[in-house]
This record gives sequence, C-alpha cells and structure tokens, in this order.
Amino acid sequence: MSSETPPTDSRATGSSAAGTGVRNREVILKAEDLVKHYPIKKGVLRRTVGHVKAVDGVSFELFKGETLGIVGESGCGKSTLGRLLMRLEDPTSGRTTFNGVDMYSQRGNAMRKLRRDIQIVFQDPYTSLNPRMTVGDIIGEPFDIHPDAVPKAGRRKRVQELLDLVGLNPEHINRYPHQFSGGQRQRIGIARGIALNPKVLICDEPVSALDVSVQAQVVNLLEELQNELGLAYVFIAHDLSVVRHISDRVGVMYLGKLVELGDEDQIYSHPTHPYTQALLSAVPVPDPTLRDKRDQIVLTGDVPSPANPPKGCRFHTRCWKAQDICKTEEPLLVERPDGVSEHTSACHFAEPRQVLG
Ligand code: ADP
Ligand code: MG
Repeated sequence: MSSETPPTDSRATGSSAAGTGVRNREVILKAEDLVKHYPIKKGVLRRTVGHVKAVDGVSFELFKGETLGIVGESGCGKSTLGRLLMRLEDPTSGRTTFNGVDMYSQRGNAMRKLRRDIQIVFQDPYTSLNPRMTVGDIIGEPFDIHPDAVPKAGRRKRVQELLDLVGLNPEHINRYPHQFSGGQRQRIGIARGIALNPKVLICDEPVSALDVSVQAQVVNLLEELQNELGLAYVFIAHDLSVVRHISDRVGVMYLGKLVELGDEDQIYSHPTHPYTQALLSAVPVPDPTLRDKRDQIVLTGDVPSPANPPKGCRFHTRCWKAQDICKTEEPLLVERPDGVSEHTSACHFAEPRQVLG
C-alpha cells in the first residue's frame, strides 16, 4: 500500500493555502433536530426490544462554499448523519432543508434533482468502487442516473475532464480500480462525487483508509476543488488532526449528539467542552517541547452503548467535571460561556481551556 505513485499533476501536489474555502454566510443545507433510531429486533418474532440512537437530535447549518468538519469516535453516528444529509435514509424525525427546500418531502423528479446537488465520497476506496467496472464507467455512472446532466455524446470527454481535474491521467479511462493505488482510487471516488457538479459534498472519512503520506495529498485535492468549484463540504473524520487544515468550522459528536460547534480556531485553541478538550489532548504533537508542556487528559471508561445512553449529559460517565446536575439535566448546545459568538457547547460547566501548547 505504500507504493503510492506520486501524482504528476501539479494541482495535486501544489501546496494549498492554509485555511479553506471562502466563507459565505448563505445557508445551503440546514439540519433541524435530526434523529435516527434503528430498531433492535430479537427472537423469532423479531420483536423490537430497543433502539440504537445513532443520531439523536442534531442541528446545524452549512454555509455555501465552506467546510464543516464533523469529528467523533467510531460509532457516534457520523456516517448515519452523512446518509441522512444525502437522503440515503429517512430520519426517524427532524428535517433537512437544501436551499430552503424540505428534502424529505420531495419525491420523484424533484428528489432526483436535489440528489444531484448533494453527493458523497465514501471512506474506503477499496470497497466503494466496483472492481468489474472501468474507471470511465464508474465516474460516468451518475450520468446514467441523471441522463440530462451531460448528453451521451459528451460523456467520455466529461469523464476525461474529471480525471484530469482530480490529478489522474485521462488516458487511463479504460483501466480497472485494481490498477490504481489507494490514493488514486480515492481520487476516482472524488471524481465520481463531483461529476454532477454538486453544491454539497459529504466526505465520510475520505482519507481514513489511506497511508498518512497520501492523506495530505487527497485533502489538498479536496481543497483545490473547493476553491475551483465553490463546493461546500461536510468533512467527517474520527480524528481532530485530520480536519483541522481543511475546516472552516468544526462540530464534535458524542453518542449521536453534537457537543461542541464553532469556528476552527475557536475549537482548536479554546475548546470549551471537556470531551473536545480530551480529544484534542490526544492529538499527536510533533514538537516534543510542546508535547511535554501540554495538559494531557486521559479519558477513562468505555463509550456507553448508543442503545442505552446515560441520562442527563451523555458524557457525564467519563467526565472529570461532572456534578449532580450533569446526571439529570441534559445540557443544550448553546453559546457557553455567554458572549462567545458562533461557538456553542453542550456542557453545564463549559469554559475555555488551552490544550495545545
Ligand atoms: P460512525 O460513522 O460515527 O462510526 P455510525 O453512524 O456508523 O457511526 O453508527 C452509529 C451507531 O448506529 C452505531 O452504534 C452503529 O452500530 C449503529 N448503526 C449504524 N447503521 C445501522 C443500521 N443500518 N442498523 C442498525 N444500527 C446501525
Ligand atoms: Mg462511519
């Protein structure tokens, strides 16, 4: 896997500017109290004995052209949230609007049109590409579903343009996925994701399966595409260090809920939720002098089951700040402490804490 061929296209290797897409305050996608509970069925009668609360009341706005990073440990509901935003699944309750249009009430053609505007790139480039299809057919597949997007005669040329755009050789259009490295396969997945000129791209851990050396190249490619095409990203990762570079804002999830949401610099330099502080203190710091100085927080205990989340604040069972109120009263995601704008936190005892040197 480490035999990664360096991309020849300067677009793919060029160091991209720190910070990311132009932030425009126009809301493109809005999630309102999204809930997804999966029934747990047991026995021959398949009786429902409980529910996995995969996503449990998530609200946020995504602005045009921005990147919203969504971070949290495995199982906290990130992929489920991504599927709800794509409408690959319907929520148990709550709603999502795209440019003000309620996504879950759309049917038929109207829904198909909406689908064009929100696309997804999956985590694993090894399993998400059909091994029996050529790269040309994989990238061109969205045109079969949306035939009016590009006339049939122009499709091959469009696929070649897309290959070029993601830093791959357009002449490799007839090759199969196994003839590409992991990073190149993810470029194919990205080409497919942007084929229909979407407005929003959900990136579900797009670099988690790749070698560290290749991750930055793929993240850089996504940034360059954003700058060129004006896309908004929901960029999902389980690690805060991956999303820092690309995100304008970051949301931290714990057991199906957003526990902190704010501008990238606020989240990294002044996290206010104990969970965010703990996640950040686990981020590797290359500079050993900083590493020694910083405040390490080691979380004890396992993540509780999403089928039976703790009452009150879901994090209280692992939180060193927890008081009685945390066991009974669920903290809302609001500005804390008061006056810190655009930085919300769901903790009764939220206060900024410097974690990284
Ligand atoms: P993440 O992407 O953060 O790792 P997921 O969204 O994949 O988390 O999963 C959140 C929780 O929902 C997990 O406990 C998972 O087992 C459960 N889950 C996800 N999809 C389904 C499904 N289709 N049916 C039942 N449970 C599911
Ligand atoms: Mg996932």
